[in-house]
Amino acid sequence: MKLSVVVPCYNEAASLEQFHKSLSEVLQKEKLSYEIIMVDDGSYDDTTQKIIELNNKDKNVKGISFSRNFGKESAMLAGLKFTSGDYIAIMDADMQHSPDKLIEMYRKLLEDPNYDSICAYKSNRSDESGLKRTLVAIFYRFNNIISDVKLLPGASDFRVFKKDVKDAIIALPEKTRFLKGIFSWVGFNTIYVPYTPDKRIYGKTKWSLIKLLRYSLGGIVSFSTMILKLMGVISIPLFIAGLLNFVLLGNLSNRTILLFISILILWLGIIAVYISRIYSNILGRPCYIIKKEIGFK
Ligand code: UDP
Ligand code: MG
Repeated sequence: MKLSVVVPCYNEAASLEQFHKSLSEVLQKEKLSYEIIMVDDGSYDDTTQKIIELNNKDKNVKGISFSRNFGKESAMLAGLKFTSGDYIAIMDADMQHSPDKLIEMYRKLLEDPNYDSICAYKSNRSDESGLKRTLVAIFYRFNNIISDVKLLPGASDFRVFKKDVKDAIIALPEKTRFLKGIFSWVGFNTIYVPYTPDKRIYGKTKWSLIKLLRYSLGGIVSFSTMILKLMGVISIPLFIAGLLNFVLLGNLSNRTILLFISILILWLGIIAVYISRIYSNILGRPCYIIKKEIGFK
């Protein structure tokens, strides 16, 4: 049995050595065969150099280096494609995901053959601002009402799963990827375990509020066309109301016209979001470009 650990890294040079040490200790104690695949997502610090150094010392460490920053989603996808293990784990490089928790998750999965995948969810958000917590709560509520895939609030990318799950995920051709949704979409039996992320030791989070909003909106667009359909359904009573107004009153009031125009502008905006998604998928550009592979035969 072999475990592959995929680690997306963006400007994590400062933490990689310590990360590697603490993860290796735990994996070696477990006496399993493993590989650690670090994906440098176009860092502008020495992340690639650090991965090369680690690979020189420890052949369990392998690496991929992107030509520029393509985002965590792309880094995870590339890492998954390079794994050769029977079990696969994804964890962050910044020491917020503890190796002990990873092993606990791995063992739990081994114990119960009925389960294919295990996902850690953030059970405690007290470290975040009130605004962020509220927005996150709204996102999950909204997503779970309108989307085809239901997400457990706080579900993270910190996961361990079987090779079958990985194969299903990397077979999907879509270019704009939202892995949390994809995990839910491919199905398989999943266990959810609570966890509290540790504090970041080096550097700072790469997620600004704007980036998070874009990511959440992208997630909804990836898995739901309900808003589009709803627009169609709502059009019918609006059209009838407009028609009645016109027939009964002979003309439409200014207020009604203004209301209709604002609804129309909103709908155009929503349609634009979906068209941009179709456009970027039709271009067929890859999710990432690899500049260098480290330690793969
Ligand atoms: N990351 C990445 N590409 C990016 C942004 C982040 O590969 O464009 C990596 C980052 O190095 C880290 C993980 O994704 O290992 C999670 O990022 P971060 O710690 O910034 O997110 P947070 O923990 O605040 O959610
Ligand atoms: Mg982090």
